[in-house]
Amino acid sequence: MTKTQETAVETQSMKRDFYKLFINGEQVEASDGGRTKVVNPATGEVIAEVAKATKEDAQRAVEAARAAFDNGKWKRTPTGRRARVLNKIAAIMRSRFNELVELEVLNTGKSIGAAQGQINQAIEDFEFYAGAIVGHRGSVNNVPGQFHNYTEKEPVGVCAQIIPWNYPLMMAAWKVAPAIAAGCSVIIKPASLTPLTAIILGEICHEAGVPEGVVNIVPGSGSEIGNFLVEHELVNKVAFTGSTPIGKDIMARASSTLKRVTLELGGKSPNLVFEDADIDAAVDGSIYGIFNNTGQSCEARSRLYIHESVYDEFMEKFIEKTNRIVLADPMSPETHVGSLIDQSQLDTVKYYVQSAIDEGAEILAGGKQLHPEGFENGFWYAPTIIGNVTQDMKVVREEIFGPVVVVSKFSDEKEAIKLANDTEFGLGSAIWSKDGARCTRVANQIEAGIVMVNCPFSAFPGTPFGGYKQSGFGRELAIETLDLYSETKSIMSYYGARPLNPFGL
Ligand code: NAD
Repeated sequence: MTKTQETAVETQSMKRDFYKLFINGEQVEASDGGRTKVVNPATGEVIAEVAKATKEDAQRAVEAARAAFDNGKWKRTPTGRRARVLNKIAAIMRSRFNELVELEVLNTGKSIGAAQGQINQAIEDFEFYAGAIVGHRGSVNNVPGQFHNYTEKEPVGVCAQIIPWNYPLMMAAWKVAPAIAAGCSVIIKPASLTPLTAIILGEICHEAGVPEGVVNIVPGSGSEIGNFLVEHELVNKVAFTGSTPIGKDIMARASSTLKRVTLELGGKSPNLVFEDADIDAAVDGSIYGIFNNTGQSCEARSRLYIHESVYDEFMEKFIEKTNRIVLADPMSPETHVGSLIDQSQLDTVKYYVQSAIDEGAEILAGGKQLHPEGFENGFWYAPTIIGNVTQDMKVVREEIFGPVVVVSKFSDEKEAIKLANDTEFGLGSAIWSKDGARCTRVANQIEAGIVMVNCPFSAFPGTPFGGYKQSGFGRELAIETLDLYSETKSIMSYYGARPLNPFGL
């Protein structure tokens, strides 16, 4: 990108004292002037205020999205041209990469390394869907002679997209990119704690040429604005990422108008280390698998099962390296792990660790709140390993969403698979083994949407991301996601010379 192009896309600074809602292509205050304070969880300090959308604001956003969809300007834009706009969104994001990273770190307390990876992926999502939409098409189907049938993919309509706080911009990109690529219009409801980068994304979309009303951003209360959007009769689809209990509630509410629903929910992902694994690679991958993003990942590999014959060797290295994880200034490149998102998440982690102790488990590393120098008022917790657990303990069954892993042994492959599947969730899973046949065998039997084989990473743009069982349904990040933002229309015609008279009248 040349200097001139950089200047051309330059807009308002991303760091502001006050962030407005983004509705119908305009930055607006809440209808009642309401504001929420946004906190840097690494320090506990207020960093900005954000307008808090009311139902009236959400109504305006829905009407804007509906009008933008119905006037057809965006959905009838040829896919090649839509693709160019998506690529421009990516280009603007890339030109302002450091600003986006800094804002994300400030609003989440996560380490700069984690934020860089996530924002890079958010950019690549737009690039991926710019390419994918051009090839997204219907089919021609086999029908009896003198009939012709083809299908067309049409955008599903107005989409309410509700996202969590753990990956604010990346989750927004996972939702917005496929939806607008498909020709839909969207209303994003970011998590109340982390609205900043989603608001900026709305502004960037507009700047890149997305017509007004196609992308609207309304930060506000989940139970108020979220429910309002989910139940609204002008909304055609709800795409939700968040906890399993709220996902169930959303599904029930969306049923009154039979909306299309995609749910990306919680997890308690197993991580299996076999006796023939490369132990050093398994240790490093398992550390990243649970402690990346301070354990606040839906696919965090939070249940670690190790073959009994390599348990001692693995654990010695795993504990030693976990104790060397650096928790410090999130903006420092030396920092591995940042703070938790808020006091409530810190309390949740403390509660689960105490419950493990009460139930007879053993803390093998961490197990305490931290106060890094200069960040004494933030919400920090040490990377924690809990041993001597049984399958019925709360820490083994429930999602903690923090830097806590539970560890136990297995004695053979069959037992490992049984333990892995002994959960109501089914999002991620990991296998460490040098035996290729075993990896395939075990991968085939695990009940989860994602299996990582000798690999610490769960997804790249283009790979389907989503769950089995109570981790939800529908897949994001992949080609098939475009189908979830589309209706399939079947067009049947008859081309015979003689008119048909099926009743013979
Ligand atoms: P959450 O369910 O509390 O909130 C998610 C979003 O829903 C927020 O925007 C919130 O304001 C909104 N919301 C809350 N109550 C609502 C209601 N009654 N109606 C409509 N919307 C409502 O989740 P969270 O604490 O923000 O995020 C953590 C959870 O998200 C974890 O369970 C995690 O596993 C899950 N998650 C899943 C994925 C995935 O892809 N499967 C990815 C990231 C996070």
